[in-house]
Amino acid sequence: MEREFSQLNPGYRLLLGPGPVETSPRVLRAMSGNLLGHLDHQFLDIMNDTMELLRKVFQTKNRLTLPMSGTGSAGMETVMVNLIEPGDNVIVCVKGVFGQRMRDVAERCGANVYSVEVPFGQPIDPADVRKIAKEVGDIKLIAVVHAETSTGILQPLPELSEIAKEHDALFVVDAVTSLGGVELKVDDWGIDACYSGTQKALSCPPGLSPVTMSSRAEKVIAERKTKVQSWYLDLSMIQNYWGQERVYHHTAPINMIYGLREALQIVLEEGLEARFKRHQQNSDAFVGGIEAMGLSMIAPIGYRLPTLNAVRIPENVDDLKARAYLLDKYGIEIGGGLGDFKGKAWRIGFMGESSRRNNVILLLAALADAMAVQGHRVDVGAAVEAALEVYNG
Ligand SMILES: *Cc1c(COP(=O)(O)O)cnc(C)c1O
Repeated sequence: MEREFSQLNPGYRLLLGPGPVETSPRVLRAMSGNLLGHLDHQFLDIMNDTMELLRKVFQTKNRLTLPMSGTGSAGMETVMVNLIEPGDNVIVCVKGVFGQRMRDVAERCGANVYSVEVPFGQPIDPADVRKIAKEVGDIKLIAVVHAETSTGILQPLPELSEIAKEHDALFVVDAVTSLGGVELKVDDWGIDACYSGTQKALSCPPGLSPVTMSSRAEKVIAERKTKVQSWYLDLSMIQNYWGQERVYHHTAPINMIYGLREALQIVLEEGLEARFKRHQQNSDAFVGGIEAMGLSMIAPIGYRLPTLNAVRIPENVDDLKARAYLLDKYGIEIGGGLGDFKGKAWRIGFMGESSRRNNVILLLAALADAMAVQGHRVDVGAAVEAALEVYNG
């Protein structure tokens, strides 16, 4: 089929799914800055500044804190390939698709993987982890997803961190959907390795994966007996490019780094506490509206992730039709269910720039419309009122 080049230009969408989400025009402008060589001293200053900003957002003093080239999954793979050697005992907590992915990656690294698994929609019980850790003994690391994007569960971390410390194991955390959106204290919570992605709560296009490693993790890497199986993700070489030596490893995605730096700057201008509060309030308003419509959330109270809101789809509503309607009539993208929740849940992201009052009110009304055309009528007025109650008291 012949098509005009201009027809392939992307049209406007409001991104309220699990990521990518809305980004600031400031970030897009930063990304269109002059291209520099990856060894230019101007760019080295930008790299240093980006690492400094990342430390602030991760709330860490870790020296080894940098953005890996690639999306969030590259960060996951970076942490696993650098810390695990074949035959290591590893515990992976699995409560959704991303925990499953962590387990898969750890297995591919040759680890003996013990998983603590709960059904989709539930948090991990630290008592289960404590029990397995005791049985297994010599454990290299305990890994968990902080914000499980497939189910909307926010996993409390401090107790799991304690268990890791009791066993002298490294504590590994996936913070792809939490960094910049909900409280995450890498140093205070004793996290040894943590990674994120740019296109979730950091509100930047996809393409980089911020990673941070504690000095304990650095020591484990330095004392490896075997080479890291991935050349591209080998931190012992990559840190020589990001460190004083500035040794070429691979060509850094220059303009992505401009974008990330601007996105981090925006996060810090708002302030971490204010940003977390904003995410919490918009999520609370949305949940209030959803419940006033007679719908329910997947995650139990106390474990709800404000950045990713997973809503149970009513029995008589077709998921695909509803999402196609939102896209067609409103230009709004939300996410469908993943894994066990395929066809059963909507995943709604209010992250970064997407976490706004206008989007909450608009989406409540648009969802009501998308259900009404399928014959499932809800009280839109009550939903909006419940949301406004959260904002205005
Ligand atoms: C999105 C996501 C990932 C994977 O990130 P990609 O950028 O898609 O590679 C990993 N973990 C969690 C919790 C995520 O939400």
